[in-house]
Amino acid sequence: PERDCLLEFRNIRILYDNAIEAIRDVSIAVPDGGIVALLGSNGAGKSTLLKAMSGILYTEEGVIENGSIRFRGEDVHHLGPDELVRRGIVQVPEGRRVFAALTIDENLQMGGYTRTNAEARERRDRVFALFPRLHERRDQIAGYMSGGEQQMLAIGRALMTDPALLALDEPSLGLAPLIIDRIYEVIVRLRDELKMTVLLVEQNAQRALDIADYGYILETGRVVLDGPSKKLVANEDVQEFYLGIS
Ligand code: ATP
Repeated sequence: PERDCLLEFRNIRILYDNAIEAIRDVSIAVPDGGIVALLGSNGAGKSTLLKAMSGILYTEEGVIENGSIRFRGEDVHHLGPDELVRRGIVQVPEGRRVFAALTIDENLQMGGYTRTNAEARERRDRVFALFPRLHERRDQIAGYMSGGEQQMLAIGRALMTDPALLALDEPSLGLAPLIIDRIYEVIVRLRDELKMTVLLVEQNAQRALDIADYGYILETGRVVLDGPSKKLVANEDVQEFYLGIS
């Protein structure tokens, strides 16, 4: 599986404050062009893995003690956030942080690391094509938009960097089912039409496994189960503990 992996966590161990072992010995493979779901309850370590992948662990006194993070076969665990974005890794953090005082259009402009204006326009038009709602409201102040629209904008901003790998931290959190539908449709299009690779962190296992190709379940810093989504959905433990079916 190694050869076709875009991103790989290998035997990774992460400590906070030199003491709290948030990630114990985790190996995760994200194949090129697929959607991988990372599931698990509160505090399992999902956000910690994403922060490690984005080079922002240091902001919370987190340190990778062991193991490696490989992107296109190269160890990148020592790189900073800007360099990781340049290489094609981008994350939409939990809580859809947008610049509340700026318009949608301005938010998108802030998201791009483009060489030319033409390139920025192209990427913005692609975001508008994926999210027509953002186009309709492009001159409106982001802070006044609904939670769903802000989530779309947060994803749109990440797409302005033209990533190879898009990581989403709980994109469905606190949103109405119909809005979640719309956002999930776009995630599927990113894979199917734009050949993007997606790492989808969710507490909403049902939603995530619906669209993911493969899933990992994390508990207290360890992978306890992984497999193709269809297999996970059929697993009795997964049904009982993560899908609420008994
Ligand atoms: P959530 O859905 O709540 O974000 P999660 O699965 O993403 O949960 P993490 O936020 O990665 O879990 O947390 C993993 C573990 O690391 C938890 O035990 C948490 O208390 C601890 N932790 C997270 N951030 C820090 C920090 N900045 N300092 C110390 N411990 C932390």
